[in-house]
Amino acid sequence: MVKKYPIERSEAEWRKQLSEEQYRVLREKGTEAPHSGKYNLHFQNGEYHCAACHTKLFESDQKFESNCGWPSFDNAIEGAIEYVQDRSFGMIRTEILCANCGSHLGHVFDDGPTETGQRYCVNSASIEFETKSK
Ligand SMILES: [Zn+2]
Repeated sequence: MVKKYPIERSEAEWRKQLSEEQYRVLREKGTEAPHSGKYNLHFQNGEYHCAACHTKLFESDQKFESNCGWPSFDNAIEGAIEYVQDRSFGMIRTEILCANCGSHLGHVFDDGPTETGQRYCVNSASIEFETKSK
């Protein structure tokens, strides 16, 4: 059973479109090394889009410094994220995917320090930053 997404591409097409690191993270559910990503300590005003299909996923005011080594958000754009239980590596975690193309973003944890209590731990390779157009 393969779930259908609004944006569907073959793995060969994704491989052509994405960088090697983006492909490894987004399509093979990889994780970038902590403190290595370009958005880890990035705090400009704007929005973060899915690096695969360009859907808007997060706003910069949802981003906070978590010191965990990956870009962290305390909330996401409504409806932009799919949540899947992940039982790999002997842990029960909640994987987060782009709801539009099914690409892997990271995991969400309920130990966030802000009002929402959520910590969306996202790979820099999975997202692209843009300054707000308006
Ligand atoms: Zn996407």
